[in-house]
Amino acid sequence: MHWLFGDQLGPHFLAPGDGDGPGRDTPLLMIEARSVFRRRRFHRAKAHLILSAMRHRAAELGDRLTYVRADTYRAGLEEATGGRPVTVHHPTSFAAAGLVRALPQVSVGPARGFLVPRKDFATWAEEREGKSLRQEDFYRWVRRNHDVLMDGDQPAGGRWNLDHDNRQRPPRESATLPVGRPYRPREDAIDDEVRRDLDRWEKDGDVSFVGRDGPRRFPATRTEARAALKRFLAHRLNGFGPFEDAMLAADPVMSHSLLSSSLNLGLLDPAECVERAEEEWRAGRAPINSVEGFVRQIAGWREYVWQLYWYFGEEYRRSNVLRHTAPLPGWWNDLDADSVHAHCLRTVLAQVRDTGWTHHIPRLMVLGGYALQRGWDPAEVTDWFHRTFVDGYDWVMLPNVIGMSQYADGGRMTTKPYTSGGAYINRMSDLCGPCAFKPGDRTGEHACPYTAGYWSFVDRHRDRLAHNHRTSRAVRQMDRLGDLAEVRRQERARGDTPP
Ligand code: FAD
Repeated sequence: MHWLFGDQLGPHFLAPGDGDGPGRDTPLLMIEARSVFRRRRFHRAKAHLILSAMRHRAAELGDRLTYVRADTYRAGLEEATGGRPVTVHHPTSFAAAGLVRALPQVSVGPARGFLVPRKDFATWAEEREGKSLRQEDFYRWVRRNHDVLMDGDQPAGGRWNLDHDNRQRPPRESATLPVGRPYRPREDAIDDEVRRDLDRWEKDGDVSFVGRDGPRRFPATRTEARAALKRFLAHRLNGFGPFEDAMLAADPVMSHSLLSSSLNLGLLDPAECVERAEEEWRAGRAPINSVEGFVRQIAGWREYVWQLYWYFGEEYRRSNVLRHTAPLPGWWNDLDADSVHAHCLRTVLAQVRDTGWTHHIPRLMVLGGYALQRGWDPAEVTDWFHRTFVDGYDWVMLPNVIGMSQYADGGRMTTKPYTSGGAYINRMSDLCGPCAFKPGDRTGEHACPYTAGYWSFVDRHRDRLAHNHRTSRAVRQMDRLGDLAEVRRQERARGDTPP
């Protein structure tokens, strides 16, 4: 028997591969373990998506697959196999990897669903002999080794990095980007059944969810995921590059692909996403800056984050060099956007409450930035992102939150903490216009919580930031502020209350 985890749902998990895949007729097993949902308070739309995707896959595979509903993986495995041998592809978390290794009946093959095998990354990292593992170097290495967007040994279009052409401010003349609408799946009887089950579990008091489980927005099947990719490439890829980092209140998706949950469920293979995007450029249908930007996200960032998860090891989750220990307030845990006055945070938290998704910059600069400035415990922040986002899995959360967003690793992943005052949010969005707070105000009635929070953060970590050449200027600027004592007083008074 071959065991498929709930994030191993696409055909590439069943292909023969290098002899490490299941045979054509090997019986398959999937286990829906209720304890997973009991352990954490997930966003309900996320629980819905995962269960819907697993049950849809089970329906597709028909008699070949045994679908077990059990309390734990261990119990499900025992029920389905009675101790007979089972194969599995390497799971995507330390916890699941530890579990399968501890079960003598299970033999574990290499991971699938990523471009770069882990042993290749280890060789690349070793060759760098203690030098930092820069994402940009890794990304170029992936492009060369996997012949992605290359003309011979040169980057297609002449440059490796087109960030300079991207990262533009949002257009001021319109509240939305003029791009085609994203793909929306249609729910079916399996979704109805999932909803009924989730209602029942909640009613039994067995599990508790957060967020709204509106109409399902993300693909639950391979067919839906391919349709979403196709629609993105045909109608939305063109605009991906220029406004990658911009935010618009009325257009949360802008030109983003919304493909992360499909990639992370294994419904799409990253190779097909980058190949298809490259084809769009070669056919003259999409500009190089957008195609390179999209390829960088998948072949660069996604792969890099996956590799760092394993490379940094299990202990990485406990990193906390800034010694941040404050708990997350209730309004944040409950996604209570209505209690928030700051327009940017209110808007983004409402997007998360309603969909379980928001794009990269709101995650980094609005949500992560707020948590970092307030000194919230990075492990709790990681857990919050994991539970709340439809695409959240342990492997992708740890580097993105512990490293990139909370700087809890002291710079193993990024060269400086990513946080800013309201000026950045104002420059990159239309979120400050209607806000009661003013991005330029540090103190007083209209003080922007991000601007005050930024200086309060710099103040608390003055020594560390003064010794980093990328942040020392901020410390010098802070030393020239005449009202730092008032900023401190005001931030203390704010405490846990929603801004
Ligand atoms: P697009 O902007 O269209 O990008 C295309 C694809 O690139 C994504 O679908 C995703 O697969 C990949 N990608 C881009 N950046 C990253 C990255 N940093 N890490 C991994 N993949 C990346 N991504 C997740 O998949 N799951 C998460 O739980 C997650 N949590 C995050 C938490 C924080 C604090 C931050 C700063 C980023 C996080 N990301 C996460 C990365 C990124 O925000 C999402 O992948 C992206 O917003 C998903 O939307 P999209 O599919 O429209 O992405």
